[in-house]
Amino acid sequence: MSTAPQTARRWAESPVPLDGNVPAGPVADLWDRHKFDMKLVNPSNRRRHHVIVVGSGLAGASAAATLGELGYSVSCFCYQDSPRRAHSIAAQGGINAAKNYRNDGDSVYRLFYDTVKGGDYRSREANVYRLAQESVNIIDQCVAQGVPFAREYGGLLDNRSFGGAQVSRTFYARGQTGQQLLLGAYQALARQIGLGQVKMYPRHEMLDLVLVDGQARGIVTRNLVTGEVKSWAADAVLLCTGGYGNVFYLSTNAKGCNTTAIWRAHRRGALLANPCYTQIHPTCIPVAGDYQSKLTLMSESLRNDGRIWVPTKAGDTRSPSQIPEAERDYYLERKYPSFGNLVPRDIASRNAKEVCDEGRGVGPGGRGVYLDFADSINRLGEDTIRERYGNLFDMYERITGEDPYEVPMRIYPAIHYTMGGLWVDYDLMSNIPGLFVLGEANFSDHGANRLGASALMQGLADGYFVIPYTLANHLASVKPPRVSVEDPAFAAAEAAVAERTRRLLSINGSRTVDEFHREVGLMMWEHCGMARNEAGLEKLLDELPSVREEFWRDVKVAGSGEELNQSLEKAGRVADFMELAELLATDALHRRESCGGHFREESQTPEGEALRDDDHYAYVGAWGWGGDLTSEPVTSGPLPTPVLHKERLEFENVHLSQRSYK
Ligand SMILES: Cc1cc2nc3c(=O)[nH]c(=O)nc-3n(C[C@H](O)[C@H](O)[C@H](O)COP(=O)(O)OP(=O)(O)OC[C@H]3O[C@@H](n4cnc5c(N)ncnc54)[C@H](O)[C@@H]3O)c2cc1C
Repeated sequence: MSTAPQTARRWAESPVPLDGNVPAGPVADLWDRHKFDMKLVNPSNRRRHHVIVVGSGLAGASAAATLGELGYSVSCFCYQDSPRRAHSIAAQGGINAAKNYRNDGDSVYRLFYDTVKGGDYRSREANVYRLAQESVNIIDQCVAQGVPFAREYGGLLDNRSFGGAQVSRTFYARGQTGQQLLLGAYQALARQIGLGQVKMYPRHEMLDLVLVDGQARGIVTRNLVTGEVKSWAADAVLLCTGGYGNVFYLSTNAKGCNTTAIWRAHRRGALLANPCYTQIHPTCIPVAGDYQSKLTLMSESLRNDGRIWVPTKAGDTRSPSQIPEAERDYYLERKYPSFGNLVPRDIASRNAKEVCDEGRGVGPGGRGVYLDFADSINRLGEDTIRERYGNLFDMYERITGEDPYEVPMRIYPAIHYTMGGLWVDYDLMSNIPGLFVLGEANFSDHGANRLGASALMQGLADGYFVIPYTLANHLASVKPPRVSVEDPAFAAAEAAVAERTRRLLSINGSRTVDEFHREVGLMMWEHCGMARNEAGLEKLLDELPSVREEFWRDVKVAGSGEELNQSLEKAGRVADFMELAELLATDALHRRESCGGHFREESQTPEGEALRDDDHYAYVGAWGWGGDLTSEPVTSGPLPTPVLHKERLEFENVHLSQRSYK
């Protein structure tokens, strides 16, 4: 059991509590009442407001399309060559909604309850309730757009189960749900582009946030094809820039996913909340070698029909078909009979690590467990399994050379999602007025552990159903004065961006960007991955600055700044990852409790389950940059001491208790 909080050595603490601006009242009425209380922008005034949306994944595309449809003048930026290539396209398993089509006991309240509990009581109740309410609208919206969700024989939309729930509420389009949802959102966005309401800027990377009189009033981008650095002014800026899981180098995220947009906003004063809450997904294809650069997810949906097991004896190297039933340990079914293979991700991941640490892991290096479909194939037939998961099975076979219809899959946990992100209030606005943050880029709804199929739900709730109201309220309340790119704040930010580019290109050292990224990622995985302890985190924090210093002394970035230069792009992103890594480790060090994806070895039950410390840590930890608010990189020495701001979490509906899935 953890004792009192440690003395703050590596961080300072703000005495002023942080306010999430949640309206007062019963949680079930909050959002409806708030929608009525918020101010509106008259339809004919909307076109006078220019709004910047950075990101065109599910959160960004849904927001840009909806705001365009409402009549705002929108500019949308992404670094890919097309909005359709946003990382959201990779989402496989499905999207939750409390439709209760199965009549199996689901409701808005149950989705709310499961999500607060699944997040290990570290999320804001009001946000989660709103998310559950809006979940039902998302499905209607997407069906209207033509998203081809799987259907049952009778025509109703089909559902499957995901971890942490005892009902079937996950809507899906085979193993390509993200792709289909993104195509739906993209079509809505393309319509607005065609109408001239949204201007789309692909291959533009946001490299700085511009504040004028303390408000977010624009961004600076670099054109990734020509190298042109340019300023854009607006009445509000929406960051929808995804998660930072690639700070660990190996992850299931697309290679391009990065932290730059939110990190540069943090450097300009935006608070970054709960960075240590990183999700480790239990069902990924195990690492195969030292030079691997990417990990592949096998969707959680597979746990509906696959059974997870390892041999009962350590060091058993027989092939799975030679291991009789009596010598197999279906450890999740044994330890958690109520939820079985569908326990939440944090629990499934930790248990996989535990059996592998005991020497019972399978495959090369013993870092794997079996996900076995033999029973389901016998019961349902191969055709049914093929219909449900065919593309995932094909992908597995292409990567491993093994046929999962014949032999069990081998899986192991990997970094997958980041619950942390920029701090936002109930209106999704950061502490910088006019800066809103949506989707995975914010910290908002998932607490310390996200339940499967709820990231897509959150991104689309934020973009389609929350931001249209809260942005209007902001614009109507603040009535932002006119600002143009002639304001000196833009020139200063442009100069800083140009100087950083020049500096990266001038080092001309001996090590590649990837080498540094891999080194930092391995250090993070080792000391801040599946399990963390004080000694390891202290060591990590002692060592990270010297890698950062070496990067700024010895990195080799080939090419020039006036052309497409992926080495330069990566260098900027890795430099930001290095700074973020230190904050992430500081957050992990300060939180001397286990909760969800953050497992502190000092804080566990006698059975090895995560043990929260609600007396000391029932708060959101939002970090402020400790130095001057410039975007200049820190090239030597430790980062300025970060400042911790605490938002107390109140649980008036789902009462704090030890999570149990037994
Ligand atoms: C393999 C995989 C499978 C998943 N499956 C599921 C699932 O089945 N169900 C579920 O709910 N969740 C799933 N998730 C999680 C989910 O896909 C993501 O959390 C979600 O799609 C994130 O959406 P987003 O719009 O917030 O960000 P993204 O889709 O990552 O989009 C980010 C956008 O921001 C842009 N951008 C970023 N930085 C900049 C910058 N500096 N300048 C300009 N543009 C920038 C990018 O170009 C992109 O357009 C999965 C995740 C992975 C990795």
